Amino acid sequence: MSIPMETITAETELERAGFGWRAGVGGVRALACYPLEREGFPNAFSTRGGGVSPFPEAALNLAGFDQDAAENIRENRRRFVSTLGGAWKLAACWQVHGSDVLVVRDPEDPRIESERCDALATNLTGVLLGVKTADCVPVLLGDARTGACAAVHAGWRGTLAEIVVRALAMMRDEFGTEARDVRAAVGPAALGCCYEVGREVIEAFREKFKDADTLFTPTADVRALVDLHEANRRQLVAAGVAAGRVHLLPLCTMCRTDLFFSYRNDRKLYGRTGRLLSVVGRRG
Ligand SMILES: [Zn+2]
Repeated sequence: MSIPMETITAETELERAGFGWRAGVGGVRALACYPLEREGFPNAFSTRGGGVSPFPEAALNLAGFDQDAAENIRENRRRFVSTLGGAWKLAACWQVHGSDVLVVRDPEDPRIESERCDALATNLTGVLLGVKTADCVPVLLGDARTGACAAVHAGWRGTLAEIVVRALAMMRDEFGTEARDVRAAVGPAALGCCYEVGREVIEAFREKFKDADTLFTPTADVRALVDLHEANRRQLVAAGVAAGRVHLLPLCTMCRTDLFFSYRNDRKLYGRTGRLLSVVGRRG
């Protein structure tokens, strides 16, 4: 049986971007950024299959206790974390589309899950920092010199608030991180091909970023597609991260609803959506 040409092209593009696939129990598949991993930071971006949630079926929903059974989410998380191998304690917070960064000092602290923030940082080993997304941009950071890492949730509000820059600042203040030592992996999100926004977002970006117009592709009247991957890439580079150390996963959650949950598309199709998890940890 021959492999379709578009599959080969997509795999080559992934590889060139620094990403590849990894398998876990139950047929779960996750994407990993290899250059980040080679510097001592195992990481994984989840996909939607191989789980036990009805979203609509066999879905790997990794968050949202109000919409899914807690035991489903627990089992899905176990399967997802198995793609990394070894024993890890997962730390993920209550995301609010804000710009606060939580420093994880005790991964056993049960309050972390209800802590309102949109980024986590640590230099502890054995901890997986996780952010939940479905169309928003997950950004994972690792600094091999100090051993600090961070996971960031950047939707349009977080991008506007420059949350990746705030995460870098927290890594500097807490762990002595210098941006030039950081490597970044930017995961599956609604990309510039699909993510349409209205006047409010366009104007807010224009007010904040002088090059904002180059992020937009106008569609209908006062609406445009916005490239949040590129927006976050620019922020990382402007903050001092080398351009060659920022890896963008070339997969769009809205184009690839076969692979990922998409808040915008799944809600149209099924009335609800699951959540992806993007995680990074420091090797012990
Ligand atoms: Zn797309």
